[in-house]
Amino acid sequence: MKERLVQIESDAERAIAQSANLRDIEEARLRFWGKKGELTAVLRGMAALTPEERPAAGQLVNEARARIEARLSEAEARLTRLALEQKIAAETLDITLPGKRRSPGHKHPITLATEAICETFLGMGYQIAEGPEIEIDHFNFELLNIPKDHPARDTQDTFYIDDDVVLRTHTSPVQVRTMLTRPLPIKIICPGRVYRVDTADATHSPVFHQIEGLVVDRGITMGDLVGALSTFAKNIFGEDTKIRLRPHHFQFTEPSAEVDVTCWECGGKGCRLCKNEGFIELLGAGVVNPKVLKMCGIDPEVYSGFAFGLGIERVATCKYNINSMRLLYENDIRFLRQF
Ligand SMILES: [Zn+2]
Repeated sequence: MKERLVQIESDAERAIAQSANLRDIEEARLRFWGKKGELTAVLRGMAALTPEERPAAGQLVNEARARIEARLSEAEARLTRLALEQKIAAETLDITLPGKRRSPGHKHPITLATEAICETFLGMGYQIAEGPEIEIDHFNFELLNIPKDHPARDTQDTFYIDDDVVLRTHTSPVQVRTMLTRPLPIKIICPGRVYRVDTADATHSPVFHQIEGLVVDRGITMGDLVGALSTFAKNIFGEDTKIRLRPHHFQFTEPSAEVDVTCWECGGKGCRLCKNEGFIELLGAGVVNPKVLKMCGIDPEVYSGFAFGLGIERVATCKYNINSMRLLYENDIRFLRQF
């Protein structure tokens, strides 16, 4: 047994000396001390000795074991230190490396169009009003003269949260909230995100952006509306731009009109873009329905107003000559950089 112990010890010494890292040490420990380890086997073999032989043999094994363990611990400490030193060396900050460049980004065409439209109306003395995107049915529909079960609701496929709460289908509830809370006269624009159950294609998206305008004061007429929209069209599409009103129907305005602007491609002569019309449809507008004023606590005998609403995507695609609305949502930086 003595010879076996000497052999194990010299094997252990060699294994420890050859250990390059902590895993090698762990393997060496298992090799000698594990369940099937060589020293463990020697200890088991002691059962075959006579009771007289056991104490001396036990002492030999214990001594060998202590020496091996001491060598293992020493090697372990040395390799731990080495690993730490290597880690520190690897993590040294190289201050000569070039920094990471952060791209400053670029304004999205929807943002650019929103800013251009807002600036135009701010210049005419309008204030910006905002409201929640999750809206109650009462503000989104009922106070705008669109009661429950009215066919006008069919044209606005709505995301319902529950029977009374919807994702707003237009920014008109901001007009309602303003009429209910702000003192008269009112002169606001409401930019914001709106939602409808629409499948995305070249001209539709379930999420899009609107800007609506509302003016309520004494003696407001259709003439004031034409003046405001005419100034807007010139500012956005150029000095020579003219507008044209065609009769239409909206629940919250009476009379109502669809508003076209002269084609920016041909200047009104007629071309492929405007389908030889000379005009391109841009927005809806009208004189605020007296019923709506009344429901919002304003006396229609004293006050009158006009309202208009336009899609920002529509303005952006027209102004920047973009042929599909989808491009606006893909966020391809190569596309966005062009504006
Ligand atoms: Zn044209």
